[in-house]
Amino acid sequence: MKPMHINGEWVEASDGETIEVFNPATEEIIDHVPNGSAEDALKAIAAAKHAFNEWRWTSALERSEMLQEAARKLREHFDEVVELLTLEEGKAISENEEEVEWTIGTLEYYAGMIRNQRGRVLPPAERSQFNFIIKEPYGVVACIVPFNFPLLLMIWKVAPAVAAGNTVIIKPSDHTPLSTLRLAEIVFDHFPPGVINVLTGRGDRVGDVLVEHPDVPVIAFTGSTAIGQRIAGLASKRIKRLHLELGGKDPFVIAPDADIETAVEAVAYAALINAGQVCTSTERVYVPQEMGETFAGAISDFVAGLRLGPGLDRQTDIGPLAALAYREKVAGHVADAVAKGAKVLTGGQAPEKLGRGWFYEPTVLVNVNHSMKIMREETFGPTIPIMTYRTFDEAIALANDSDYGLGAVIRTNDPRLAKRFFEEVRAGTVWINDPLTDNYAGPFGGMKMSGNARELGEEGLESFLETKHVHWDFSDEPKPFWFPYGRE
Ligand code: NAD
Repeated sequence: MKPMHINGEWVEASDGETIEVFNPATEEIIDHVPNGSAEDALKAIAAAKHAFNEWRWTSALERSEMLQEAARKLREHFDEVVELLTLEEGKAISENEEEVEWTIGTLEYYAGMIRNQRGRVLPPAERSQFNFIIKEPYGVVACIVPFNFPLLLMIWKVAPAVAAGNTVIIKPSDHTPLSTLRLAEIVFDHFPPGVINVLTGRGDRVGDVLVEHPDVPVIAFTGSTAIGQRIAGLASKRIKRLHLELGGKDPFVIAPDADIETAVEAVAYAALINAGQVCTSTERVYVPQEMGETFAGAISDFVAGLRLGPGLDRQTDIGPLAALAYREKVAGHVADAVAKGAKVLTGGQAPEKLGRGWFYEPTVLVNVNHSMKIMREETFGPTIPIMTYRTFDEAIALANDSDYGLGAVIRTNDPRLAKRFFEEVRAGTVWINDPLTDNYAGPFGGMKMSGNARELGEEGLESFLETKHVHWDFSDEPKPFWFPYGRE
C-alpha cells in the first residue's frame, strides 16, 4: 500500500478504504493506494490553505530555485520513474521517456518564467498618481488529472501554479496514481509541507468537496467532457476560476498534394501513439477521393505490421488500453460503425495471441460517415476511420463538423491550403505536417466543447495569477470633484 501525501505526511484514507492499481498489460494488481474520503479532502484543503499563508510571500527567486531543484531530482530518478509510469499506464517505454523529459522541461520553463515580471506599470491620469498592475496567486488550486499522461498533465498545472505562489492539491487518476506519489516522495520533498499535496481517491468520493469548497478558488481540470460539465456546474455556484481541458475528436486532412507514404506514417503516429489515448489523437481522417483506396490499403498494411505488447518491451509500438472499460468503449464504437455500414480493413478486435492485458488491435475502417459514433464521439483508442472528400471546401466543413475543437492536422505543402486550414478550422492547436508536437511556449487547449483554458506558454502561468490594479495618489489636496459639490 502506497499512502497519500497530505501536509508533508504519508497517510491512509480516514476510513481505511483502498483502490487497486493494475498493470494494464497483464491485468495484475501492482499496488494499492488510499481511496481518499471527503474528510481527507477537507484535511488537504486545510493544509494547502495554511501553507499558502507563507508560500505566497516567498520570493519568486526562491520558488524558481525549488522548481529547478525538482527538475534536477527528477532527472536523477529518470529511469525509475519511467518504469513505474510504464507499469501503471501501459504505453510504450519510449513514449514514457518523452513524457518524463517534457515533465522536467516544464519545471525548468516555469522556473525561468516566474523570475521575469510580476505585473506592469500604467500611464496615470494625473501627474501626482502612480498606477500599476500586480499579479497575485489565488490560493489553493485543485489539480485534477486524467490517466493518459499522468505526470505531464499534472506538471502543466502544478509547475505554473506553484511558481505563481499558489499551493496545490493534486488529484491523480485512480488508474495511475503511483508515479505522482513517487514524485511527492523523491522530487517534491524539499517543498514546505502543504504546498504540494497528493490526494488519491475516486473522483466521486473527493471530487465534489474539492470543487465546491470555498477555500479552493481555482479548479484546474483535465479529463472527459462529461466530468468537466459536472465540475463546471458545481464550481459556478461560487464563481470559481475554472480551467477545463476536455475531450477531442481531432481531424486529420490529407491534401491532394500530400505524399501518400509520408501521410500514412504521420496518420498512424497521430492516431496510435499511446494506443490512441491522447486528447489530441487523430480520430477522423479525410482523404481526397482519388487517393482514398490507395491510402486505406497502404495504412492498413502499415499498422498491421506494428507490434502490440507490454510497454516495457522496447520492441513494442502499441501498449494496452489503460482499463477494461476503455477497451469496451472502443469495441462499442467499432461495432456501431460496422452496424451502420463501415468496413474494417484491419484489426477490429482484441488480439487473441496476447492473452491477458487490455489490448486492442489497431483498426482501420472505411465507408464511415458522420452518423457513426466513431466519427462523432471521442473513441480514445487505436482506431483510424477514413472518409473521402471531393473538394477542399468539403474537407474543411467535415473537419469543423464536430462538437469538439481541440487539435487539427493537415499534410500539405501548398501554402494556400495550409492558410485556409489554419484560419478556417476551429481548433486550439493546428499542426501543419508534424502532428501532435508540443512546444513549452505554445499554449495548449481547446475550443468549443474541448475546453476553455490554455496550458503551457505565458498563458499557462497567467491562468494561475489574479490581476489587481493599484491606483496611488501622492497629492495631499482634496480632489475638486469630492463633496460638497457646491465648493467654490
Ligand atoms: P475522467 O474525466 O474520467 O477523469 C479525469 C479525472 O477526474 C480523474 O482524476 C478522475 O478521478 C477525476 N474525477 C472523476 N469524477 C470526478 C468528479 N465527480 N469530480 C471531480 N473529479 C472527478 O478522464 P480520464 O478517463 O481519466 O481521461 C481521459 C479524458 O481526458 C479524455 O476525454 C481526454 O480527451 C481527456 N484529456 C484532455 C486533455 C486536454 O488537454 N484537453 C488532455 C488529456 C486528456
